[in-house]
Amino acid sequence: MKSFFLSLLACASLSAQTTVIKAARLVDTKAGTTIANPVVVIENDKVKSVSSNGAVPSGATVIDLKGATLLPGLIDAHTHITADPGDYYEQAFRRSIIDAAVISHIYARRTLEAGFTTVRDVGASDYLDIAMKRAIDRGDIVGPRMVPAGLPLSSTGGHGDLTGFSPYLRFEGFSNVADGVDAVRKLVRQNVKYGADVIKVLAGGGVLSEEENVGGPQYTQEELNAIVDEASMWGRKVAAHAHGAEPIKRAIKAGVASVEHASLIDDEGIRLAREHGTYLVMDIYNDDYILAEYSRLGYPDKIMNKERIVGRTQRENFKKAFEAGVKMAFGTDAGVYPHGHNAKQFAHMVKWGMSPMQAIQAATVNAADLLGWNGKVGVVAPGAYADMVAVAGDPLADVTQLEHPTFVMKGGAVVLRK
Ligand SMILES: [Zn+2]
Repeated sequence: MKSFFLSLLACASLSAQTTVIKAARLVDTKAGTTIANPVVVIENDKVKSVSSNGAVPSGATVIDLKGATLLPGLIDAHTHITADPGDYYEQAFRRSIIDAAVISHIYARRTLEAGFTTVRDVGASDYLDIAMKRAIDRGDIVGPRMVPAGLPLSSTGGHGDLTGFSPYLRFEGFSNVADGVDAVRKLVRQNVKYGADVIKVLAGGGVLSEEENVGGPQYTQEELNAIVDEASMWGRKVAAHAHGAEPIKRAIKAGVASVEHASLIDDEGIRLAREHGTYLVMDIYNDDYILAEYSRLGYPDKIMNKERIVGRTQRENFKKAFEAGVKMAFGTDAGVYPHGHNAKQFAHMVKWGMSPMQAIQAATVNAADLLGWNGKVGVVAPGAYADMVAVAGDPLADVTQLEHPTFVMKGGAVVLRK
């Protein structure tokens, strides 16, 4: 029996597909340095070795990217890959989950072709994100690796409920609304049952919904504690949506892995995040898009007023929190703006206090750490998935280079080459 398996292994290694990638430089995201003239040897879907000016194994397929800069595939830790921006009322009343199911594979491809080989997708209706992840993993459609959240937990009247309409209107579908300790625990279990890899909770008010207070808490400390406890029982991390100072603090105290948006975080929140090692995922690009496309998106004034309050302050607080030493992972809220523009956020992160290397690390090693995928993604190193992106120039001199990838590879397969 043993020899049977050994011969199988021998067959596997003989038939392994070996590819070599060469470029002018490789961004070593772990060390925060660059490697000149990298030779990356890939076997099947994983990186086998990385060296400077190393030897090319005989029989390998060589992809020479010449003067390009090679990086690990990028990670967006906050997407909604099954949604796309459009008229607010059209989306609420004229479209259904079926429309989204038909079209969202296009968004997945766009995201991947933009160099984002992994996403943490933090909330979708009716488990569409989980269906998409499975279709991608089967190879039926093209898209990034996904860590899907399934239904985002919302309180009644909260950010994930449909608020502002007649009490006689009914929307069919799985409900993401849960109140009280028992109900939130049950919804965490239901999400896990249907395939969620992370739990998303809407801990406080949102911007793009009609409830009153963007800064207000929408779950009690007790409910948040129960959500984190239940999720960890099933081996899942929790991502908490929170703009306001109070829900941010409650979420951190409850032990969430990341606070999303964190727009109005105060000094105490910053101190708590640092002490607990909580990641902040601050989406500091999409405000540009929402304000520019205001009339086309058709949001009610109530929503636009909230956006104006939050946008600028969030950027200032990003700088403050980062300079105070809080861990930051790259996340953009893609779906609120068009998919594929994810990399536009890098320039904002540099404008608001990060070096290009730090912004790249937020979208690689830091995001991988947040996902619990250390060493698997976010690095070009032996044992990691062969997920890579290349740009023509030097992104450490001009981070906007990342907006125009010339080469994308996922799991050893070339996705894009210009
Ligand atoms: Zn979001």
